[in-house]
Amino acid sequence: MTTCAKCGQDSKKTYNCEHTEEAEFCVECYTELHYYMTEQKHGKD
Ligand SMILES: [Zn+2]
Ligand SMILES: [Zn+2]
Repeated sequence: MTTCAKCGQDSKKTYNCEHTEEAEFCVECYTELHYYMTEQKHGKD
């Protein structure tokens, strides 16, 4: 079990990339992070 750096919940599987600054995020937080990034890109149109 790893603790998500964002929501603090224990998660069986966590993810990280350059956007999480090497921190471990649960799938919900990881997806949400990239969702907002995509939204921002679209907003620039
Ligand atoms: Zn989380
Ligand atoms: Zn990323």
